[in-house]
This record gives sequence, C-alpha cells and structure tokens, in this order.
Amino acid sequence: MKPFIGISGNIISDQGKRFPSYKRAYASNDYVEAVTLAGGVPVIMPIVEDKDLIKQQAERIDGLILSGGQDVDPLLYGEEPSQKLGSISPKRDVYEQHLIQFAIQKKKPILAICRGMQILNVTCGGTLYQDISLIDGASIEHNQRASSNIPTHSVSIKEGTHLYRLYGEQISTNSFHHQAVKKVALGFRVAALSKDGVIEAIEKEGDHFVVGVQWHPEMMAKEHEYMLNLFKLFIEQQKFPV
Ligand code: MN
Repeated sequence: MKPFIGISGNIISDQGKRFPSYKRAYASNDYVEAVTLAGGVPVIMPIVEDKDLIKQQAERIDGLILSGGQDVDPLLYGEEPSQKLGSISPKRDVYEQHLIQFAIQKKKPILAICRGMQILNVTCGGTLYQDISLIDGASIEHNQRASSNIPTHSVSIKEGTHLYRLYGEQISTNSFHHQAVKKVALGFRVAALSKDGVIEAIEKEGDHFVVGVQWHPEMMAKEHEYMLNLFKLFIEQQKFPV
C-alpha cells in the first residue's frame, strides 16, 4: 500500500464565457505529479468549512502537503494590511489553520510549500513580512522571471536539519515569493537562508517531520532529481511512524 498524500486545495473562479465566475476546487498538477513520482497516492483536499470534516480529512491521509497560493491575512498575526499586500483568501486561511492543527495533533508528516510554509508558521504562532522590500538588506530577486523549473538563487542550509541530511550545506532553488517569515514560530527552527538573509526553510523541533520550504520543489521535481528527493524523504516518513 502506498501512502495517501493530501494536497491542500484552492478555489478558482472560472474565467471562461460558459460559466463566468463559477467556482472550481483544484490544486496545481505539479504537486500531483511530484507525489506520484515520489511513490505516494496524491489526493487533492478541497476547502470545506465544517471542522469535523476537516478533522476527518486530516485523519485519513498519511501525509500533508500545504500548497502555494495567496498571501496570508496579516490580521492573523496581529498586523494591519500593508499597501504591498497581495490577494488574500480568509476562507482558505481558516481551513488550512484547522487542517494544520489536526495534522500536528495526529503527527502526520507535513511538507509546507511557499504560502504553505507561511500559513504553517502563522498557525503555530509566528509572523511574516508582508513584502520582502520591508526586510533590511534583502537584495536578491525572489520573484524570478525565469521559468519555474529553473533554480535561480542559492540557499544555505543549517546543520542538524532534515534538509542538511538530504542536501548538505547548500542548494539552488527557484523563487516565487514576495512575502517571507519574520518571527519563527515557537518550537520551530530556521533550516535555510538565502544569501541576503531571507528565511527559506523552517522545521519543527523534535522527531515529527514538519518541514516548510519557501521555494517550489514541485515545479523542479521532474527535471531535477534533488528536488524530487525532498518529496521522497517526506513520503518515506510513513515507514517510520513517530
Ligand atoms: Mn527566495
């Protein structure tokens, strides 16, 4: 039996003429393909409101991928919106906050990607920079114009982390974010930094596998084996339950 890997879903409004603004539940197909290539059974998890349904979703999966997307509502970490804030989805925030809490209670392995890492950090008590321009000394292009499968900046990895055991001191990543982690949630540690000091990965302390990365490994996984290996490491956690 292969592990069931839940991918947190999103809602998109249909732009076509047939059903204008009709709402569809979806996840980007790169997550589906990366999970498949890494040996898991991909399952897209739609946003629902009922807390008991969210709990049952969390119980039935073997691991959780928190996918990328909108900015996190800054009110959730006690800030008013900056003029540089992008689009937000409070409904998705509420859903994923419950999902994260249930997944942590049940000790499900979590791989949190881009917005996923940001909502994970906020849910566990951390804060964000609403825009990278608000960080002193941040000088690198974190919203690359190069294709999504091309690594454009390096990240330095901290010793003693899952990422260090997988990669050693440094890797190159793609980068599609304009927000970043400010205060790391209690019980988490910084696992990687870009050369300009932006937090690029966080991990939960202890033996429960909860890893957040600011880049998009799913967009590189087909062409770059080292990014597929991150999904494999995450999926392998199923064989060694904590
Ligand atoms: Mn970056």
